[in-house]
Amino acid sequence: MTLKQYLGQPHPDGDATVVRASTHYRWTPGERSLEACPSCGAELTLSERHVLVTLSRPVGGDERRHLCDERCVDAWLADG
Ligand SMILES: [Zn+2]
Repeated sequence: MTLKQYLGQPHPDGDATVVRASTHYRWTPGERSLEACPSCGAELTLSERHVLVTLSRPVGGDERRHLCDERCVDAWLADG
C-alpha cells in the first residue's frame, strides 16, 4: 500500500478523513522535536524520516499527526 492510497480514508475515531499522507522530516537546528506516534506510542524524532498524516474534520479543522511508517498508519486507521 502506498501513501496515496490513504487519501480519503476515514479515521475511525470520529469524523476525520485523511487529506494528506507523505513521508516527512523536519530539521530544526538546535532543537530536538519529539512526538509520540498515535498508533504504537513510540517516540518519534521529527528530524528523522516518518509519515506525516493530515486529518480533516468538519469541525475543528485540520490536524497533523506524525506516525512511524506505513504499518503504523494501517493499524491506526484500522483501530482508531
Ligand atoms: Zn508507530
